[in-house]
Amino acid sequence: MSQDNQELVLPGERLATEEEFASSANTYIENGQIYSAIAGKVSIADGKISVHNQKKEIKKLRRNMLVLGTVTDDMRAVLFVKLDNVVAGGKEYMALKDGKILLPKERHGDRGGRGGFRGGDRRPQMHQMPQQTPKPCGVGDVILARVLGEEDDTYALKLDEPETGVVYAICEICGGELEESHDRNGFVCKSCKHVEYRKVSSLYKKPDEIERILTHIEVGR
Ligand SMILES: [Zn+2]
Repeated sequence: MSQDNQELVLPGERLATEEEFASSANTYIENGQIYSAIAGKVSIADGKISVHNQKKEIKKLRRNMLVLGTVTDDMRAVLFVKLDNVVAGGKEYMALKDGKILLPKERHGDRGGRGGFRGGDRRPQMHQMPQQTPKPCGVGDVILARVLGEEDDTYALKLDEPETGVVYAICEICGGELEESHDRNGFVCKSCKHVEYRKVSSLYKKPDEIERILTHIEVGR
C-alpha cells in the first residue's frame, strides 16, 4: 500500500469503504462508505484514509456546534435552513447538508387524554380548530442554531437556548426593519407595526458577539 498516493479528490467524492480503511482527517462516512469532505490529496497511513489540503484544515459540522444559516423553506412541520460554513481557529467546518428544524405537532382537541373523566360526555368538538403553534422563524430569517445531530441528508437543529434563534430578520409585509418586542414575544415592524412571532436570539443585532460565539466551538459535549 502506497504511503501517499497523491490522488486528487473533490468534496463528496467516494474514497473507500469502512471495511477497507478507517475514516480520518477531512473525510466522512455515509452508509459504510468513506467520502472526502474537501478538495485535496488523499493519503493512506496505518489503515487510515485522509485528505489534505495545504491551505486550511477542513472539518465537517458536528453535533453540538453552533451554526449560522438562512431559513429557505417553510413546510408544515419542518423548516429548512441553508447553513453557512463555520471558520474557527484556522479550521473550516463545512456544512455539507442543509439543516432542518422540526416543529412541534399541532395540538388537536385532547381526546380522552390523561386526567379526563372516564365515560364523560365531553366529546372532542368537531368545530374546534387545531391550534397552530407559532413557528420560531420564517423564510429569509438568519438564525443561530445548535446542531442536535446529523441525519442522512440533513442536520437536525434546535433553538432552545437563549443565544439561539433569529439573529436577523425583516418584516414579511413591507421589508422594514424589525424591532424586538418583549411583551409580544417576537418582533414589531418599525414601519408598518406588523407583529411577527419569533424565537429571538439574545444576540439579535449583535454581530460581534455572534462572531465570538461561533469561533468558540464546543464539540463533543
Ligand atoms: Zn412592516
